[in-house]
Amino acid sequence: MLAGLINLHGQHVRFADIVPTYKFEDWGQSLPKLLIFSREKIVYRNTGIFCSTTQLMTPPRIFWLQKQLEWYESPMDQQATYLGTKTHLLFEQSAAKLTEMGWLTEVPYIVPITLPNGEIVWIGLMFDSVDQNTETLFDYKVSKKYKALKGKDPAEWLNWPGGACSDWMIQLSVYRWGLQHPGKRKILNEGTDQMTLVNDPTPIPIRRAILDLTVKDYDKHRPQGLKPIETYSVPLMSPADTEAWVTARVAYLSSFSSATRSEELPDCTPGEIWAGKDGRPKRCPDFCPISKLESCHQFIRDFPGMALSSSTSQCSPSSVFELFED
Ligand code: SF4
Repeated sequence: MLAGLINLHGQHVRFADIVPTYKFEDWGQSLPKLLIFSREKIVYRNTGIFCSTTQLMTPPRIFWLQKQLEWYESPMDQQATYLGTKTHLLFEQSAAKLTEMGWLTEVPYIVPITLPNGEIVWIGLMFDSVDQNTETLFDYKVSKKYKALKGKDPAEWLNWPGGACSDWMIQLSVYRWGLQHPGKRKILNEGTDQMTLVNDPTPIPIRRAILDLTVKDYDKHRPQGLKPIETYSVPLMSPADTEAWVTARVAYLSSFSSATRSEELPDCTPGEIWAGKDGRPKRCPDFCPISKLESCHQFIRDFPGMALSSSTSQCSPSSVFELFED
């Protein structure tokens, strides 16, 4: 691929034609490369999984369009992920010590689930850590104080869909269910990006789940009852309810697998487009990787002419890398 070009709708397009206001210096001198490397995900490569745990909660429209289209992330949209990646590097630094203490850290598991039609699909679980001594599952996140404050209300965890924190409850419930799953698991070969199928029927018991949330816009002059790092004891669905939820969700997502056009996919719901009180979507213009590709007929139909944020996903990390290599 030529430096300075990106692939959009199957055509190579000059990068400057798509983001005419961007200048190289907008990205700083070294940040993009760090972002590129930090965003490279190798854990599920060549595993044939249907989806990861977080993708389970993705609206079907975004889930399938992301699979079908060439879409790209802007480094400038990756601030939260970048901060999260730094946190996870602390785990990697401590991995040997934590293992000595009886912890499991960031072990990618893949578990099978049987759909009502008999098809078996694999779901990826990339949990942060488990203290096997206390049977505690830990998850570490970076988010805004808006969500940190919501986390203090139990209804925001238990109300799915709609609760501000309910996606976290489901994510951790899926991890707990998967770790106790009696089936085979695939496991990453240490020091490589290759996965091996291993028979690992030994359940990893989990009694509780803790979420440590770094409040990225914490203001010590206006703490609003928050601490810089908030800790929540996460309510968990029962393993049986979680398995039923995963099965139904995968069956629902996979029911659109033959759709080839945006029009054949279900509309995103008001909750999925993060509609405000006036009905205008927060997600589409600012956070959806699809909207910039003009491939979401729902967005074009319902919000004609709506301005897109200047940095929503449009350029590939590899393209940025190549621009700098040029
Ligand atoms: S642009 Fe909006 S409606 Fe379209 S897939 Fe994204 S979130 Fe859904």
